Amino acid sequence: MHHSARLPPNCIVSRYANAPWTVLPLPLPPTEAPATGDDTLRRRIEPWEFEAFFNPQELRREACLLYQITWSSHKVWRETAKNTVDSHVEVNFIQNLTAGRYCRPSTRCSILWFLSWSPCSSCSKAIRLFLSQHPGVSLVIYVARLFQHMDPQNRQGLRELIHSGVTIQVMRPQEYDYCWKNFVNYPPGQEEHWPRYPVQCMTLYNLELYCIIHNLPPCVRISKQRQSQLAFFSLGLENVHYQRIPPPLLLLTGLVFVFPWK
Ligand SMILES: [Zn+2]
Repeated sequence: MHHSARLPPNCIVSRYANAPWTVLPLPLPPTEAPATGDDTLRRRIEPWEFEAFFNPQELRREACLLYQITWSSHKVWRETAKNTVDSHVEVNFIQNLTAGRYCRPSTRCSILWFLSWSPCSSCSKAIRLFLSQHPGVSLVIYVARLFQHMDPQNRQGLRELIHSGVTIQVMRPQEYDYCWKNFVNYPPGQEEHWPRYPVQCMTLYNLELYCIIHNLPPCVRISKQRQSQLAFFSLGLENVHYQRIPPPLLLLTGLVFVFPWK
């Protein structure tokens, strides 16, 4: 059930750019160059690590978390973390934060995560528990990829996270730019050299996240190409997707065209 367009998709998309259901950019805090700020509170990763872990076209095993905590004193912490053998990076984060004396139940702070993979169902549960015990903490999560997104439990976990007040969005070029400038040890003069991944991958993940949030069946299928970590994306739309997904969101994929019926 594919249709053809009268207007170039870009026209339609820009016309709908401020519609209420489009994903609006969240204001990101100001960026910092590697030479400034408090180095004891910030650990940067190497450019190759960022390019490898956060590539939306690759399906790597490792998970990486870049996080930023803004305390009520306006002090900002930036750190990076990875999965360990026995626990996922999200759970490690919560354990480290609650083990120290920095985060008590009464603490007020806002946490920003950039995750290479979206949380699995058990991490989603752990995050919800942590937030319920720390009502002054807010969490915004940007993800480069959706982890095993066909799994109904993972989908349910993300939905419950969102219902409990967590914001989840797929990383777009501006987030890659932000991470590069704030979490990556980029060489001098390379401030603007953040990796330019194809926007279409991000759009497909964003479309699938929409399906997860609205409890629709999966529409983006992702498989691993043999002998490489590259992802292969395919779009399988059912009638319910055409009925429930706003057309501009479908048009953004560049794979679907809408022709108005007369
Ligand atoms: Zn997990």
